[in-house]
This record gives sequence, structure tokens and C-alpha cells, in this order.
Amino acid sequence: MENMNKISCEIVRDLLPLYADDAVSDASRALVEAHLEACENCRKVLENCRAQVKIPPESTADPLKKVKRRQIHRIALAALAAVACAALVFGLYFNYSTRSVTVPYDAATMTVADAGDGVFRFYYPENVNGISTRTVHVERDGMQEIVLFYYLDYRPLRDAGSFPNGFFAKEFPPEDFGEVSRIFYRDFNGVDPDVLIDEMDVTPLVWEAEGAPLLTPFTPAG
Ligand SMILES: [Zn+2]
Repeated sequence: MENMNKISCEIVRDLLPLYADDAVSDASRALVEAHLEACENCRKVLENCRAQVKIPPESTADPLKKVKRRQIHRIALAALAAVACAALVFGLYFNYSTRSVTVPYDAATMTVADAGDGVFRFYYPENVNGISTRTVHVERDGMQEIVLFYYLDYRPLRDAGSFPNGFFAKEFPPEDFGEVSRIFYRDFNGVDPDVLIDEMDVTPLVWEAEGAPLLTPFTPAG
């Protein structure tokens, strides 16, 4: 009998949620109610059942966690999106601010004047607001000289008014082996110095020291 009663309790508890929802057949309801009269444990289970039924399923404990987890996901996604956005904006800005357009050589508007004491004035056409320079020590067949390569560019975010005189002034102090003797116009960015020297003859020559030999004899040390 005890065993029968236990099985009966199990069956009733299976039915209790439906019973609490008033979703059982009359026969089942009669069966459940008959059992409940005799079984205090199942009555308690029914009370619990009814208490839970009143709470919307979304707000019971487990779904609450799910909602929280979803919120955390949403916050994490928003944070990721914000970071990605910031990176994109910064990347675009960085790309734009460092972007420069090399200006092709123009003999009419690009000239260089020696201002003395190793200072040179690089004249440039309108809209140019950037200059890059590189000195190269040339040694060839026991001859040497210091040549300078430069190029002008347009940099979108640079204030064009920072050089109001129409020229860039730059100083190139004499090095151990002398002063700058020739100045060439070439975008040397990423070009090996040996290539710059090799191609000097076909590179626009903008300025050269008066009376200076193109290559000065020297005796290599050692
Ligand atoms: Zn029972």
C-alpha cells in the first residue's frame, strides 16, 4: 500500500501544475482532489505550484539569469562596438593626418637658395606645406661629396601658414667631409641611399655650390 501511495503521489505531482492551471480533465481533477484530501505533502506541493504559476515565467529565477546574461552580452557588445568605432575613427584620422601627396618636380617654382652658414631656403609652389630632406654621403672612386635630396608634399592637416615666407629654411651644418655641394629633387621615401646615388645623374638637380667640383678627391682612411 505504501508503494501504491508513493506512485500515486508521483502521478499527482505530475498532474499538479496542470491542475493548478485548471487544465485537467474532470476525471483527473477528481482523482487529484481525492488524493489531496488525504495527502498533506501533495497539498503543500500544490501551494508551491500555485505560487509559482502566479509569477510570469520570464521573472522566475533561471530566466532572470538569462536576462542578466543577455544584458551583459549587450553591454559587452556595445563596449566592443565603441572600441571598434574609436579605433576606426582614430585610424581614419591618423591615416588622413599623416597622408601626404608628393608634389612633382617643377623647375619654375621649386628653387633653392644658399642663405649662408649651412642654411638653405627651399622655395615652393602654392598649396605645398611639407618638406622632407635627406643628406647622403657619396664616395666613388676615391672621390666624395655630400649631396642633399629633398621633396615637397601636401599634408592636408598641416597649417599652410606655418611657412609664410614662401620658403622652408633648413640648416645643414658642415659634416666632417664638407658641406652640401648639390641638392636634388626626389621622393626618397623607401629608396635605398645606394639607389639614390646610382640614379643621381637622372635626378633633377636643383642647386649646386658655385665652383664646387661634383666630386671632391679624398683619401679613404685606413
Ligand atoms: Zn500525495
